[in-house]
Amino acid sequence: MELHITLLGTAASVPTASRGTSATLIACGRQRWLVDCGEGTQRQLLRSGVGLTEIDLILLTHLHGDHYLGLPGLLKTYGLRGREHPLRIIGPTGLERLFATLNPIIGRLPFRVDLDERLPTRGEPVWEGEEGRIVPFATRHSVPSMGYAVIEDDRPGVFDVAAATGLGVTPGPEFGVLQRGGEVTTPAGRIVRPDEVLGATRMGRRVLLTGDTEPCGTTLDLADGASVLIHEATFLDADRERARETRHSTAREAAVLAREADVDLLVITHLSSRCLPRDIRDEARAIFPRTVVGRDFDRIEVPFPERGEPVVTSLRRRPEVEAPADARGTVPAFDL
Ligand SMILES: [Zn+2]
Ligand SMILES: [Zn+2]
Repeated sequence: MELHITLLGTAASVPTASRGTSATLIACGRQRWLVDCGEGTQRQLLRSGVGLTEIDLILLTHLHGDHYLGLPGLLKTYGLRGREHPLRIIGPTGLERLFATLNPIIGRLPFRVDLDERLPTRGEPVWEGEEGRIVPFATRHSVPSMGYAVIEDDRPGVFDVAAATGLGVTPGPEFGVLQRGGEVTTPAGRIVRPDEVLGATRMGRRVLLTGDTEPCGTTLDLADGASVLIHEATFLDADRERARETRHSTAREAAVLAREADVDLLVITHLSSRCLPRDIRDEARAIFPRTVVGRDFDRIEVPFPERGEPVVTSLRRRPEVEAPADARGTVPAFDL
């Protein structure tokens, strides 16, 4: 199953010349999910080369403006394009009240918007598919907030062809029966069980997005052994007091959590325009080297673990997503 993430907005609070406010697209098989929808998200989708894909689900981490102000524009555009599929929007306490305010601005739409306001109850998924689920988790911010974990089901172990033929199983459909967990009987009458020919169960891939939060135990629990942790770091550790007041994290704190959880890759996002990305990177990497500071239009491929580590590439290299020359140099975001 394909699993990749596109960062569409990596700035905290306000956009800059090179960073939009919070938005992340997750492609999981044929599903497309948007986590947060900051101002200008629809244009970021276009600039990324992904296009105005039909989002199946929008997951809001909390209801601060830099995480939802792109919704009215995106929904209206879907309406103009004649979207018919209902759109489900999940968010924390206050979601219905927010839409009571936004509805007169959005106006009539040709598709249904299903609001799903909820408290993150431990382990209860907000979406379930054949190969995985999305589980929300409580985070600690200045308003009701939650993160989301995309959790792929564990996969059966590697099928040992030599062991199977050695036990007398005839190559063919019976291999498939064993791979799916069934027993087979060989021509010689021996019953072969799947555990005789399958390796250890392989842990499914796991991607976490925290949204705005202080470091917290719920993130740590779910991040244990995750493939990718996308964690905010609005401040450097020198501003830790300010991080506590506003209930955000520092780069150091995100890195300490990533180290404790032993994730494959930490992606830092929600950068304040007051911090240099390279300072955020250096502070985090001193504690957890497998850190990247996310940039708009970065794509993170998450392969099956046996096929390698997560890989970050930039869609920015495509000519149509290059920032215009006059936008460069104003914000130190191109230097990582
Ligand atoms: Zn924010
Ligand atoms: Zn916030």
